[in-house]
Amino acid sequence: MSDRAQFVVVGGGQAAGRAVETMRSAGFEGTITLVAEEPHLPYERPPLSKRVLVGEDPPEKTEIHDADFYSSHDIALRLNTRAERIDRASRSIGLSDGTSLTYDKLLIASGAKLRKLGVAGSDLDGVCYLRSRRDSLEIQRRLAPDAQLVIVGGGYIGLEVAASGIKRGCRVTVIEVLDRVMARAVAPEIGRAFLDYHRQAGVTFHLGVGVEAFVGTSNVQAVRCSGGLQVPADLVVVGVGVEPATELAEAAGLEVDNGIVVDEFCRTADPAIYAAGDVTNHPNPLLGRRIRLESWQNAQNQAIRAARNMCGEAEAYAEIPWFWSDQYDLNLQMVGLPEDQDQVLLRGSLEERKCTALYVKDNRLIGANCVNNARDIRPCRELIARAKALDPERLADPAQSLRDLLKET
Ligand SMILES: Cc1cc2nc3c(=O)[nH]c(=O)nc-3n(C[C@H](O)[C@H](O)[C@H](O)COP(=O)(O)OP(=O)(O)OC[C@H]3O[C@@H](n4cnc5c(N)ncnc54)[C@H](O)[C@@H]3O)c2cc1C
Repeated sequence: MSDRAQFVVVGGGQAAGRAVETMRSAGFEGTITLVAEEPHLPYERPPLSKRVLVGEDPPEKTEIHDADFYSSHDIALRLNTRAERIDRASRSIGLSDGTSLTYDKLLIASGAKLRKLGVAGSDLDGVCYLRSRRDSLEIQRRLAPDAQLVIVGGGYIGLEVAASGIKRGCRVTVIEVLDRVMARAVAPEIGRAFLDYHRQAGVTFHLGVGVEAFVGTSNVQAVRCSGGLQVPADLVVVGVGVEPATELAEAAGLEVDNGIVVDEFCRTADPAIYAAGDVTNHPNPLLGRRIRLESWQNAQNQAIRAARNMCGEAEAYAEIPWFWSDQYDLNLQMVGLPEDQDQVLLRGSLEERKCTALYVKDNRLIGANCVNNARDIRPCRELIARAKALDPERLADPAQSLRDLLKET
């Protein structure tokens, strides 16, 4: 690579923003161009369902850097511009404005796109989804006091929107097809505690109920569900998950399997193309399996690792996954990606809403959910990474400090 080598980054989210910043801090002196289809400077999404949604923070506060940062670091921004195709033979990218860019190395950080509910009435005014800054401001505008807000999906984003709706004085209902909330993310005991807390705050839940149609003439007026239930609505927010935005990679012949397939160095099979963030299917050497994550930590740290590797390093990306959610005054942090645990041990008190659920498999800690208990995160992460056998009785004993247990392993 010559000094004026060209790096191109596709994406305008957290992974893209952190990647371009890292390329410069790692000493790359060539050209850097970031191509983003949204009109904003690269930004982070977590506040979109929290402080931005209720108007406590302006949307600009989500931006990773201000415009001066990019100009002073000689990073060219092509905002409002979509990367439409990659020509791997000529190492060039066709853009939506009809121009093209050549690259020596390319990072795809195209993130994830919303999964849509394909039921009747989906195009009625007031049926909303939440992924972008624009979506967040649109929902915020409609969160009027006393408005009937119906949320489809009891995952963490749906529940954050529920808490935000309550804060804005809305009448909030959550419809969830499973019989519990945050089923993918937390232990049943923790899910139940969150459900109780939301109910006490005034949220109505219909669990085990599927949505059949949105009803209305031009504006949504109700949600029709299985079993004949009809829930009145002024505003519906659908939160039924996302899918990796892999079209660009797929059309370029890169391997895609629930995300762009990369190795532990964040490289695709094409040595000039890397990927990072929500869009990747990557190996996690600490967990011993391939995963795709939708998390702030992964968007940031995998992008930093990819950018450093593009600049000549060759280090594996290896972290225990970590994720958080804020609902009312409840801070939930999840570490590890537990599956097939043989027991869940509860430390602390669900009633006092300060507790940690430990997921154990073969006497090894494989995951934890910490509610208002952030200090448990670090020792849990370390204990998971070390994968040593532990005594479940001691693990379950709240008098046993996890930090001390860590020192012994
Ligand atoms: C409302 C909300 C709340 C969240 N809260 C939390 C939380 O509390 N904790 C947590 O850990 N995580 C949270 N997350 C998840 C976290 O924000 C994501 O994991 C993270 O945004 C992923 O970053 P990314 O850069 O990989 O992808 P994205 O943020 O999806 O960014 C990808 C960008 O690429 C652009 N793009 C796609 N294709 C193209 C193309 N062909 N050309 C140009 N541009 C393109 C997209 O428009 C988008 O701007 C939340 C997500 C949302 C939506």
